[in-house]
Amino acid sequence: MDLGISGRKAIVCAASKGLGRACAMSLGREGVELVINARTAETLEATAEEIRQETGAKVTAVACDITTDAGREAVLSACPQPDILVNNAGGPPPGDFRNWDRDNWISAVDANMLTPIFLIKATVDGMIERKFGRVVNVTSAAVKAPIEILGLSNGARAGLTGFIAGLSRKTIRHNVTINNLLPGPFDTDRFRSNIQVQADNAGVSYDEMLATRSADNPAGRVGDPYEFGEACAFLCGAHAGFMTGQNLLMDGGSFNSTM
Ligand code: NAP
Repeated sequence: MDLGISGRKAIVCAASKGLGRACAMSLGREGVELVINARTAETLEATAEEIRQETGAKVTAVACDITTDAGREAVLSACPQPDILVNNAGGPPPGDFRNWDRDNWISAVDANMLTPIFLIKATVDGMIERKFGRVVNVTSAAVKAPIEILGLSNGARAGLTGFIAGLSRKTIRHNVTINNLLPGPFDTDRFRSNIQVQADNAGVSYDEMLATRSADNPAGRVGDPYEFGEACAFLCGAHAGFMTGQNLLMDGGSFNSTM
């Protein structure tokens, strides 16, 4: 299926690894011109080159912290008028809310709520004028099924989800859609390090813990980032213009509900 976005311009945040990288790769395969971002220049440049080699896409790498004003300015000056914006950043650390002070909360809200909101603020009016825009926010399955130790993530992402629910109904009239993609367990560096911690805590090997987590999922496995990237590309496609304000869960069916 041709998604109809060849030649469009995209910003993909936090994209040197994992889910962000997969989103960038899938958009690159569709012929989208990319500006990708992450903090570590070396890994980011290596990923940019892999995407160029695999897809032939034009890729500009901007190494910066997307959760800062300076980082967002750097990315936006490399691509001031994106047609597509994929918001992503690292997730906050787990812990007990009794140990979190104001600074911990502000960091989580900065990364997982305000950064996407400020990037949307900087780009959405141009999308509206040009009558095409696709925004995808990478959030988490924890938005729907909260994980107690991830309270910083549950709280900050819920704030973003509420904001998007309102705004997305205002922009779709101009062919600008805004949706959230909610990953469950996907095989990324972050996921692997979580599995290692759980394995160490349980006194079992990494492979044993991975097998347990996989067996617990209705799919009998964890997700492949490729699958996530392709879903993101679909949401960014020309044919997805009647879909906005949605929270699309990709968790292998773990969240058990009729709707
Ligand atoms: P990952 O494999 O650790 O990759 C994270 C990427 O984000 C890296 O490219 C990293 O590069 C970049 N990054 C982190 N902080 C950044 C910042 N402040 N500015 C710019 N780039 C930044 O993580 P992932 O598994 O793909 O997770 C992506 C998001 O999905 C996270 O918010 C995570 O909480 C959420 N999520 C993931 C899963 C899962 O199973 N994988 C499940 C639920 C939710 P640098 O470190 O070089 O900056």
